[in-house]
Amino acid sequence: MNLKKYEGRKVRIIDNDDTEFVGRVIEYIYTEDNEPEGEGLILHDDLQERLIEFRKEKIKSVKILRKEKFTVLLFPPKEARFPGIIWFCDGCDECLSNQVDFNDHSDFWACTACGYVNSISGYNILNQDLFNAVKNAVDKWDPYLVFPDAPEDEYDDESRMILAKIGETCDESIIAAVVATVFSSQFGEHFSKEECEVVAKRIKSNIEHI
Ligand SMILES: [Zn+2]
Repeated sequence: MNLKKYEGRKVRIIDNDDTEFVGRVIEYIYTEDNEPEGEGLILHDDLQERLIEFRKEKIKSVKILRKEKFTVLLFPPKEARFPGIIWFCDGCDECLSNQVDFNDHSDFWACTACGYVNSISGYNILNQDLFNAVKNAVDKWDPYLVFPDAPEDEYDDESRMILAKIGETCDESIIAAVVATVFSSQFGEHFSKEECEVVAKRIKSNIEHI
């Protein structure tokens, strides 16, 4: 079992006692850093809201629940041009603020993960009203029925990606297609445009009522 690949992912871990844990792997522990216990994972357990350490031999199985990695800000920006703003790549949604040497004083930043050249300007800062309009609709839709147990930002990455793609479009059919594309790419299963029509209608209505 290669544990390293689970770092930064949302997973379900079953231990040797058949107990199930769901949460995010915040750290992979290298064997040499953890003598004599050896290789392991540190999980932030969603339900218990605490960190749990798993040694490799205690783990029966691990399943990745979400493909994308979550964001931990390793390098909080000092003296930022836009204090408090966290930048995300429009190409792959990686957190740019976290990339080595990123600073928001340059007007463009090439994502070190995918190469997409992102514009860094006041114009690109997320419109909070639009974001809330999308977030509200997506959270109510909740296709995986994760609420009320999950953290309230559970679908925020998807909402942000949807907003980046629709802009201020109010065409319900386009919004449904965008939602289907984003959810299909983020989760390991296919979402059809038809399945996304309900949430698209709500997004459109929310945006119109801002
Ligand atoms: Zn990127």
